[in-house]
Amino acid sequence: MGEGTARTTCPYCGVGCGVVAQADGRAMRVSGDEAHPANAGRLCSKGSALGSTVGLEGRLLAPAIGARQASWREATALVARRFSETIDRHGPDSVAFYVSGQLLTEDYYAANKLMKGFIGSGNIDTNSRLCMASAVTAHKLAFGADLVPGCYEDLDLADLVVFSGHNAAWTHPVLFRRMEAARARGQRHVVLDPRRTDTAEVADLHLALAPQTDVRLWNGLLADLLRRGAVDRGYIAAHLAGFAEVMAALAAEDQSLHAVARDCGVAEADLATFFRWFAETPRTVSLFSMGANQSTQGVAKGLAILNAHLATGRIGKPGACPFSITGQPNAMGGRETGGMATTLAAHMDFDAAARARLARFWGAQRVAERPGLMAVEMFDAVADGRIKAIWIMATNPVVSLPDAGRVREALAGCPFVVVSDCMAATDTMAFAHVKLPALAWGEKDGTVTNSERRISRQRAVMPPPGEARADWRIIADVASAMGHGEAFGWRSPAQVFREWARLTAYENIDRPLNLGPLAALSPDAYDALEPVQWPVTGSGGTARLFADGRFATPDGRARMQPLRSAGPAVAVDAAYPLALNTGRVRDHWHTLTRTGLAPELCRHTPEPFVEVHPADAEAVGIADGALTRVQTAQGEAVVIAQLSDRQRPGDLFMPMHWTAAFAPSGRANPLVGACVDARSGQPEFKHTPARIRPYRETWRGFFLAREGWAAPAGLDLIWRRIPQTGCQLHEFAGRGDEREREALRLALARGATAAPLRFEDVSAGVLREAHLAGERLDRVMFTTTQGALPPRDWLVELFAAEALGAQDRAALLIGRAPGRIVQAGPMVCACLGVRAQRIAAAIAEGADSLEAIGESTGAGSNCGSCRPEIARLLKAPTGAEVRHAA
Ligand code: SF4
Repeated sequence: MGEGTARTTCPYCGVGCGVVAQADGRAMRVSGDEAHPANAGRLCSKGSALGSTVGLEGRLLAPAIGARQASWREATALVARRFSETIDRHGPDSVAFYVSGQLLTEDYYAANKLMKGFIGSGNIDTNSRLCMASAVTAHKLAFGADLVPGCYEDLDLADLVVFSGHNAAWTHPVLFRRMEAARARGQRHVVLDPRRTDTAEVADLHLALAPQTDVRLWNGLLADLLRRGAVDRGYIAAHLAGFAEVMAALAAEDQSLHAVARDCGVAEADLATFFRWFAETPRTVSLFSMGANQSTQGVAKGLAILNAHLATGRIGKPGACPFSITGQPNAMGGRETGGMATTLAAHMDFDAAARARLARFWGAQRVAERPGLMAVEMFDAVADGRIKAIWIMATNPVVSLPDAGRVREALAGCPFVVVSDCMAATDTMAFAHVKLPALAWGEKDGTVTNSERRISRQRAVMPPPGEARADWRIIADVASAMGHGEAFGWRSPAQVFREWARLTAYENIDRPLNLGPLAALSPDAYDALEPVQWPVTGSGGTARLFADGRFATPDGRARMQPLRSAGPAVAVDAAYPLALNTGRVRDHWHTLTRTGLAPELCRHTPEPFVEVHPADAEAVGIADGALTRVQTAQGEAVVIAQLSDRQRPGDLFMPMHWTAAFAPSGRANPLVGACVDARSGQPEFKHTPARIRPYRETWRGFFLAREGWAAPAGLDLIWRRIPQTGCQLHEFAGRGDEREREALRLALARGATAAPLRFEDVSAGVLREAHLAGERLDRVMFTTTQGALPPRDWLVELFAAEALGAQDRAALLIGRAPGRIVQAGPMVCACLGVRAQRIAAAIAEGADSLEAIGESTGAGSNCGSCRPEIARLLKAPTGAEVRHAA
């Protein structure tokens, strides 16, 4: 590796792809690491665009106290003093840490050690609570510990893959590409999902089950396996407990094919096909992710999947396992080190022996006695004053938690809020009394664990910018200032990692999470550490768990769990007759803090939307593309309606990424109720009763400028910011009269030095105004009260010109690009920048397969996450409008 080059790991999803990063100053080129076992050189659109996200735009580069810059010494001392005073006055449970799957394992370890070992509270929880806490609880109940049995190779080897609430084509594209390759040799795909997602679109079978009927369906499958004699009686007798109780629970409900199909809202013949395929296919992997976990029945859904695999002995074998896939790059690291409030470090629980063991290992006097508050409870406690000081690390709960408006109010009223983050202006940062600048990806150095228990290195390839510091060091400095210097005296991430690895092996008789051989890594060996799956033994990593049928319970038997299906926490009713489901889009990540910096990632799904079945839209007079109010008992959003039969009648879908900085009216999580699974604490993001209404704007328009913009105070506008190359596009709409438009026009023109190019047609409600800085276009605004607005692409291109010619100036006034208007259409392949129009042209010229389109345009030939969309374009009638169905 050359200077400024490192083999590192992608910071986005739980696949954990290896990345080769080459930095030159703040510029970076990335490629897939061919030697990394998770991806063998592949990257998806997000990973491929990492180089666009490592600039210093928007970074927090120095500590701040209130609005003023502060030294590290001053900020650290203040955090330590306020936490110590709060603990002295109100006890250890009056403080909390809310952390993130973006943290490295070393950071997580340090934060957990401080809170659970030295502050003496369990109040540290991670945003991973929002994505896979239900799977963690299911694993512990069934296996005795939070253990993911399988590995990615199982996805290559399986003959049947069941995707349960998992849109892998979009959320884990590199894994999906592996499975696509396996499909070419006959692997079958079955998708269980209320939506016809891109994964479902190309599957062999899609069961669009009614929301919250997963347990009913998996119970029905188990009953069917029993009827067929397809369970493994020998395995059950030798390795399982609880089978009789499960049989009794199944018998309490009508498990006939007809009854299960009716209750799940799927065709009986399709259900029969799934049951038959499952029964006949020993090599089956069942993937489950947010669609299963984010529910008040999340634990039961996970257990129902585990039951089916346990009863058939399909676990611990090549190509056969239940497989929880994580959303974040280091959600697993948090689970391991105790980043969740419900566990101590290294998979230990709060029993006396484990607490004493940790006290001995850490030399700690006050190890937490009981589990702490889980994410939603934690912010409830902030709201009602039980928590008086909170430190939020590398996450944005003001956007990402359910009932996010209430989280906003809670933080606004909290006496002391610390936020450590690499970004300066997240929605959460606005509530910080102390802001601490953390390192970002490309600067950090440490380890992460992916969904298959594989530990990989994230390596620094750029120097720390400004005064930013590693999270583990920020935590250690605060711990030292609180009087715990001896226990937090690390000087490098390698030292933190070695201590962590030693803990996993400490007095370890039967804990599978064991990194013992890594405890003696030299600094050089740590630096060179190759990806390895825990448990780590003298001979290396471990691909599969439970191969010998022995589980992590006291008697070695897995526990099957009797389950009853139940409805959602809050049912739809006459006031809110629709069910709102929230989730991700293909090219965005979490709250846009990173992918919002890459214009190429903003083109596939440029703005927030609500996907609605056409019948539901027609019932309330909403047309495709219309601004639509989505209302729940918690709040309201206004977003574009996308009418699609990919949605079940009665269901809505909204993406969860947009924040106040990008689309204040497009935020999904303020709409979501704060109902959680009682056992896992995971919120129900997939089912909130809702209704839709037309927004009925009186005018709309757009504004392009070199800089981002926030709506002027006092104007009640719906606006969305869409980053472009070289400028920012703002779409907006209002319900006022011409005075509202004029107030906006004056605000946008503020500071302009020369008279604008201007066209106004009052009778048609049309206004166009362009400002130049010298000869260059500086900002442009178009509005209309009726009629259409022109395509934005040609205007975006004008921002790149050094000088506007006479033809361009005339075009601005006419409101139309010179010559024939060619709309490139929405972005389909973000990796190679191929838009819909180009693909349509290739199809018109005779490209009639995914391969032919790949050869002609390049589209779909990199990560492949756009291949289902290309397949849809291939199937579309000639001349059909090209549009995403997200
Ligand atoms: Fe990153 Fe994409 Fe790989 Fe996930 S699939 S780790 S987002 S490159």
